[in-house]
Amino acid sequence: MSEPEVVYLKDYLPPAYTVETTHLTFELAPEDTHVKATLRMKRHPEREAGVPLELFGANLDLRAISLNGEALPDSRYRIDGERLIIDDVPDDFVLDTEVVIAPEQNTALEGLYRSNGMYCTQCEPEGFRRITWYPDRPDVMAKFTTTVIGDKATLPILLSNGNPIDQGDLEDGRHFVTWEDPFPKPSYLFALVAGQLEVVESYFTTRSGRTVLLQLYVEPQNLHKTEFSMGALKRAMKWDKETYGREYDLDRFMIVAVDDFNMGAMENKGLNIFNSSAVLANPETTIDAGFQRIEGIVAHEYFHNWSGNRVTCRDWFQLALKEGFTVFRDQTFSADTNSAPVKRIEDVAVLRTQQFAEDAGPTAHPVRPDHFIEISNFYTLTVYEKGAEVVRMLRNLLGKETFRRGTDTYFERFDGQAVRVEDFVNTMADVSGIDLGQFMRWYEQAGTPRIDVAEEYDAERQEYALTFRQHTPATPGQVADSKLPLHIPVRMGLLNGRGNPIELAVGNERPGHEMVLELREAEERIVFKHVAEKPTPSLLRGFSAPVILNFPYTREQLAFLVKYDVDGFNRWDAGQRLAQEAIFDVMHAIQAGKAPTLDDTLLDVFDYLLKTPDRADRAVLAEMLQLPSEAYLAGQLAQVDINAIHDARAFVERSLAEQLHFHWQALYESNVTKAAYEPSFEQISHRALKNVALSYLCATGDEDALALADQQFKTATNMTDTRAALTQLVHRHAGKRADAALKAFEARWSHDPLVMDQWLTLQATQPHPEALDRVKALMAHPAFSLRNPNRVRALIGAFSQHNHVNFHRADGEGYALLADIVLQLNKSNPEIAARLVLPLTRYQRLDEAHQQLMRGALERIRNQSLSRNLYEVIEKALA
Ligand SMILES: [Zn+2]
Repeated sequence: MSEPEVVYLKDYLPPAYTVETTHLTFELAPEDTHVKATLRMKRHPEREAGVPLELFGANLDLRAISLNGEALPDSRYRIDGERLIIDDVPDDFVLDTEVVIAPEQNTALEGLYRSNGMYCTQCEPEGFRRITWYPDRPDVMAKFTTTVIGDKATLPILLSNGNPIDQGDLEDGRHFVTWEDPFPKPSYLFALVAGQLEVVESYFTTRSGRTVLLQLYVEPQNLHKTEFSMGALKRAMKWDKETYGREYDLDRFMIVAVDDFNMGAMENKGLNIFNSSAVLANPETTIDAGFQRIEGIVAHEYFHNWSGNRVTCRDWFQLALKEGFTVFRDQTFSADTNSAPVKRIEDVAVLRTQQFAEDAGPTAHPVRPDHFIEISNFYTLTVYEKGAEVVRMLRNLLGKETFRRGTDTYFERFDGQAVRVEDFVNTMADVSGIDLGQFMRWYEQAGTPRIDVAEEYDAERQEYALTFRQHTPATPGQVADSKLPLHIPVRMGLLNGRGNPIELAVGNERPGHEMVLELREAEERIVFKHVAEKPTPSLLRGFSAPVILNFPYTREQLAFLVKYDVDGFNRWDAGQRLAQEAIFDVMHAIQAGKAPTLDDTLLDVFDYLLKTPDRADRAVLAEMLQLPSEAYLAGQLAQVDINAIHDARAFVERSLAEQLHFHWQALYESNVTKAAYEPSFEQISHRALKNVALSYLCATGDEDALALADQQFKTATNMTDTRAALTQLVHRHAGKRADAALKAFEARWSHDPLVMDQWLTLQATQPHPEALDRVKALMAHPAFSLRNPNRVRALIGAFSQHNHVNFHRADGEGYALLADIVLQLNKSNPEIAARLVLPLTRYQRLDEAHQQLMRGALERIRNQSLSRNLYEVIEKALA
């Protein structure tokens, strides 16, 4: 194939023509939907006259085109790939087009498509061009009026953005609704939904006294799964007013649940479209973590109404402007609503495991990339999660109140505009007086920065010094020498020998027991005065910057921090570091052919945590009692031996299980509750502890423990307990018990695809060697479909991302399976294909044999004709 075009940030130009108003009319039909568009356009004041008009379109059958009411002859325009060009247009004109599209044939799920007979849209980032010819770029903002026409019997509900202003019946059993959105918006926020849907309604009264109608549209069988999301939406609306002073601006806010959806959810103005997995919840079908995820996503999409919709991105390179900020907003919302330290632990675990892996691999890119082939490939953990960390650092640097003044000013200054990352950061600099010039490098330099810290203690002078050396490793397109020092906030404190915090004294400053150091140089030395004894430092509290910080802690110091640090996050982190060292000890013993043993310090710490469970809140304790994941451990090694990591982690888990058996039993029993299920923080913590205990009990492989899991499976009244028990039975390979439980689960839930996704996932992730055959067999199961992204993620995504020992089988069969599926999806759904292939691209730290097999699988993919999405990822991976 010819090489796809690369788009560069440095080439940005404002659009030659902008759109004032957009009138759309849809006549819906599965194979031939007619879309008429009337665009009132004007030359951009910053562009010269006479520049050709350029519109974007893909898979459109153009039936008519006219300019200022006169049909354009073929000679007046040309179509070149995805561009329609009209060389000669006046400064001010009306363009009319009519196209035909086929929603039924649209398996890519971008633009307008059908899902279970329902019409819906996904236009971010460049889906609108699959609906009509348009200057489909976020800096073109227009007022939209949309008329939707459809069959009244099969499509009783017809929705679009804004408020309904007209509706009525037409001939042939059809009807129409006209919607008007008073807020100018970019085309990526356009939405349309039509189908047989039920609606659940509620109201929210804003602080200023306006009443907003809240509507949640679902298919009839899902009506019993709407209550939680409606509540979450109201909590989010209240929180955003209290925390950011933001109020909702339209008279109605609609959410629609759709089964076939590439992403989690989409913040279209006034009409959010959700993957059903990100909005439907019920205690019988949804685990605790699912409730929390849904609450976070509902809030996230709602928050976008200001951070994304009212103030949007100038171009797609600025994606982190809306996503980083909005993820940060939803993270703090969840922290305020549940447990702040647990939320931080979970977010950092994802960042350090997955985003750091992205940073270390061939698809590494800055939070603001400077070029792309396919922008859909940049909806990444780097843009979202690291982007959120960058905003969090700004808040750490400015302090809560000044940060709020900054966001108020930002919303005020740029309301109704399409802006850049600089506009956000400069606003923060303006309100705080802090120079954030160097801070901008966080958006420009890819890779995870490393900070090595060394200590010196001078007993005579009572001085304790810490030397920080920072550097960022090379990433594709950015050599190590080009990386400049970053502006890094390091929150820290010092503990004395009794575990008490030390009063800090640096220069003439007396910041108290804790301070935020602002590193700006490649190397910096900080001297703490009046330190009477050699302290233990607690560094990077709350994970105050997205970096890898190395300090040469002894194991005793790590155990000490677990027991005495005042920072919940750092207590957890110290325990994780200790567990990692214990696991690596065992791994080295296994690799050297020696008999492994369990590290005494780790055993001590677990013994301490289990004997004094009240030292931490229960939810934090449940996190502290879990060992780091195999994926996280692999990320800590320069040379990865997948099987040795798995065996070593399993050995440590089993040893802790056996040696502390009595405590695990007691922990299980003390957290059993008879109360009716609630997704409340209190109950979630109990269930988390109980199920962690169950996992350790089952790790011994004891018959009694598996019987307990079986008993829990049979008597559980909520999905959290059911799934925890079933996971133990299947992952611990409980033979007939596991088979019977899987069958019972299937018989009960085969009608509910979202529950069956969990059934697929827990089989795909079992560590036993039969997993690969099981996955292949499940691909033929009625619960699976290659057409639905949730099913693909549940089975294939889970296998390739979370079943390391089987995905990395020595015979390469795991890689072959993924390559086969990626090639099939390359044709039907390129966006999902390009995301699914990523585990195959992370071969750099594996041994030569695995590297060859993975590269071989990638080359097999490269030999086919590839979508732009997959082309970009594969070329990077094989570069
Ligand atoms: Zn978002």
